[in-house]
Amino acid sequence: MSFIRELHQQLVRKERSAVEIAQEALDRAAVLEPKLHSFLRLTPEHALAQAQRVDAQIAAGEEIGLLAGIPIAIKDNMCTKGITTTCGSKILENFVPPYESTVTQKLMSAGAVMLGKTNMDEFAMGSSTETSAYQLTANPWDLSRVPGGSSGGSAAAVAGDQAVVSLGSDTGGSIRLPASFCGVVGLKPTYGLVSRFGLVAYGSSLDQIGPFGRTVEDAAITLGAIAGYDPQDATSLKVKIPDYAKLLKPSFQSRGRLRIGVIKETFGEGLDEVVEKAVTKAIGVLQDLGAEIQVVSCPRFRYGLPAYYIIAPSEASANLARYDGVKYGFRAEGADNLMNMYTKTRAAGFGDEVKRRIMIGTYTLSAGYYDAYYLKAQKVRTLLRQDFEAAFDKVDVLVCPTAPTTAFKAGSKTQDPLTMYLADLMTVPVNLAGLPGMSIPCGFDEEGMPIGLQLISNVLREDLILQVAYAYEQATTWQLSKPMLK
Ligand code: GLN
Repeated sequence: MSFIRELHQQLVRKERSAVEIAQEALDRAAVLEPKLHSFLRLTPEHALAQAQRVDAQIAAGEEIGLLAGIPIAIKDNMCTKGITTTCGSKILENFVPPYESTVTQKLMSAGAVMLGKTNMDEFAMGSSTETSAYQLTANPWDLSRVPGGSSGGSAAAVAGDQAVVSLGSDTGGSIRLPASFCGVVGLKPTYGLVSRFGLVAYGSSLDQIGPFGRTVEDAAITLGAIAGYDPQDATSLKVKIPDYAKLLKPSFQSRGRLRIGVIKETFGEGLDEVVEKAVTKAIGVLQDLGAEIQVVSCPRFRYGLPAYYIIAPSEASANLARYDGVKYGFRAEGADNLMNMYTKTRAAGFGDEVKRRIMIGTYTLSAGYYDAYYLKAQKVRTLLRQDFEAAFDKVDVLVCPTAPTTAFKAGSKTQDPLTMYLADLMTVPVNLAGLPGMSIPCGFDEEGMPIGLQLISNVLREDLILQVAYAYEQATTWQLSKPMLK
């Protein structure tokens, strides 16, 4: 099932115009905003102008691509030329990028209609979208709960049916965690598959942009549109991009016996019973579909979280040095010398979580501590990658829960950063190893909150996880459930 294809058919059959679709989407987004707060800003003029261009193409008899006229939402850490991009931070309050990020450029060229920029944790640091300097985003399934983070706005916009698909970024789980909490599909690609040009940097060796969709096919179509080599990003991979959506088959039969490994270390202490049950049941479905299931061990998996919370803040502390009150808009008033101006600007412009990360990162990179922390964490990263390599000698795809719990109540973890960090336990190892990972809906808890199944494959095997996800989706009905929002 693909909502993109459905709309595309309506457009080419001239049942609806792109402007009608855009206007309806903008209206629905606006009606739901007071409840959800998914968007930091809606961009109706931009959306309607783009929709008019698509209608003109259709009227001229030109062939349009699948994404032409499709309403999308973009996380507010991707630069959009002439449209404010705040990264959820006060320090970028007035930042209007003079250039377009590669991913948004690609989507615009494909004719996609951007409805607006979505809310996020400040500088993508967080697991609940609560560190945003601007607003709290609600989980569409229960407005008193968080949508997950840091791409919470993009996940909520898709779950709440405000946008058909959206883009998020994932440094340690920021696509997969909100996908799991909001009951949608979210995919973090292989490091280097999607250009980071124009993405506000957080942890440069970990950051990747990826899609959210209500179905696997929609995520596959969107990934195909944003992936590919970009000379503007030095870490961009020169690889051929397959037609991900075309490769999707309802069963595994054509591939021989697909081997799926269940990561042993992700079960046990700390994992909610209801999550464990749903994930175990999902693994049973994959077995029924013909996959061979094995239990595999990644003994260093549990060191992922501590290593991540040294490496990510280290990189962040370097990346965020550029916000000094000179180059980017916000500057604190009343300083009598340059040093004072820097410190006042940063003290007023950054929120608590960002300051915490800068302090940790500056410490772990400083002389005398570098070897003990940063270097050690990098060594752990290598060991972790070796665990994955050994696992992929035995199996094609790894599965585990996306998160240890379902979405929690807003405010319940904000006073305790370490508990908040635990939400990323199952997702950060994937970023440290540069692998693709995906979260798909696999059930609900007793309170009706969605549960996510994480699928991980070897580098550049997005086709495999998409295939497993697609076959699972065909065999289940989770994606048909929608939150009651009216
Ligand atoms: N929650 C993690 C963090 O705060 C991951 C965030 C992300 O992937 N951007 O760093």
